[in-house]
Amino acid sequence: MYPLYPLLVIDGTPLPIDDDSPEWVRVELDPDGVAADHQCRDCGEPLAPTVDGWANMEDATECPAAGDGDFAPHTAVPVPLAWCNSAAVQLDADADEVTVSISVADPRGAFRFTIRRVPDDAPSPLAGCLLLHMPYPGQPMQHAPLTPLDPETGTFIVGAVPAALEERRPRRATA
Ligand SMILES: [Zn+2]
Repeated sequence: MYPLYPLLVIDGTPLPIDDDSPEWVRVELDPDGVAADHQCRDCGEPLAPTVDGWANMEDATECPAAGDGDFAPHTAVPVPLAWCNSAAVQLDADADEVTVSISVADPRGAFRFTIRRVPDDAPSPLAGCLLLHMPYPGQPMQHAPLTPLDPETGTFIVGAVPAALEERRPRRATA
């Protein structure tokens, strides 16, 4: 028999790690908070809003990839994954639990999804069971508001509910 050693695998490639038993792995998408959250649909350049419209890194508001000689502005679209601060996997052998967390709001916090094994000697009928803990609407200190979209599938709206949906709902499920 062998002891349990976690293996870090990135895009299918095992990564050499110094620590025999890493406890925490995290992917940060914009650790310095400097990345643009919009880019141009036509030329692909990162964009920032200015008083004259969307501009690229050189402050140019004219898009080289759009139009046919006449001035054409950049067309800003959200950068994919720019809504995510980080995603992490945490292994806690003492608590016998694994947590996956995704941060989309305050970067110091995250939505946490944990599976924990109840100890065999716990004074509970759940002894030996695996329990899944998930974020839920109205949770104290929650990372961002959650509103159920379809209770059958466990899908939630994160943050503000679109006005068109809000009108159809008799009341919000979470404040
Ligand atoms: Zn452009």
